[in-house]
Amino acid sequence: MRKAKRAAVAGVRKAAAAAVTLAVLGSAAQAADCPRPDTLGTARTLTIDATKYPRIGTKSFPETLPLEDHEVVLTFDDGPAATTPKVLKALADECVKATFFLVGKPGLEMPALVRRIAAEGHTVGHHTYTHAHLAHLSNADALAEIDRGIAADESMLRGHGAPLSETKFFRFPYFESTPALLDNLQSRGIVVWGADLWASDWNPMTPEEQLKLISDRLTAARKGIILFHDPRAQTAAMIPAFLRFLRENNYRVVHVVPPAANPAVATGAHATR
Ligand SMILES: [Zn+2]
Repeated sequence: MRKAKRAAVAGVRKAAAAAVTLAVLGSAAQAADCPRPDTLGTARTLTIDATKYPRIGTKSFPETLPLEDHEVVLTFDDGPAATTPKVLKALADECVKATFFLVGKPGLEMPALVRRIAAEGHTVGHHTYTHAHLAHLSNADALAEIDRGIAADESMLRGHGAPLSETKFFRFPYFESTPALLDNLQSRGIVVWGADLWASDWNPMTPEEQLKLISDRLTAARKGIILFHDPRAQTAAMIPAFLRFLRENNYRVVHVVPPAANPAVATGAHATR
């Protein structure tokens, strides 16, 4: 029995490895199209881990990423969703890489979309299993919710039995953390992401209003980690115009990656810094 189970696990691992190979080939094919003239492009890749950056984002924490003037990091929470492909297309059209903080349960309902996000070269971070208010739960229940979300994401990307925190980026739903949870995540080497500015796209507004709000905020802030929500139709509709705004106003997109998840990208980051 035990042996059979091990063989089954090995089979799943092999399948996962094949999926990763396909994913790499997929992004390599796309990388061949990028950079392209007249696109925004990804200016540089920044590799970070929790030893140097345990908590980032000035909306919640004293520290943030070491971004230069006019550098932005694009992050999308709460997906995957029906509107996510529209965001992915806009990013691909401009040769831009972003970070997606996924919710595990909806992800399990559309695993192909989760794999597509990773295959197109974006960073996948974690955002719990059901988007619970973690500060309202017991510490044990909150940790279970976090780990179930990570396990769901990792199972889609790397197969069942993958290490729990392969991609060591996490963002609290509603930015509701507790000191105990922050300590736990730091002890496990997981970077906790806040944001430096956000689109307030949880408020209903037209894509035009959305664009004005976030571009005004960025003009004032000049740089930072920007939070969007790809399940919001108004955001998905606005992203192409926002990327055009970035291009026309000389902003540069920084793609942030964890060292363990993609050693090839990490090496590239050292070369480009
Ligand atoms: Zn969220």
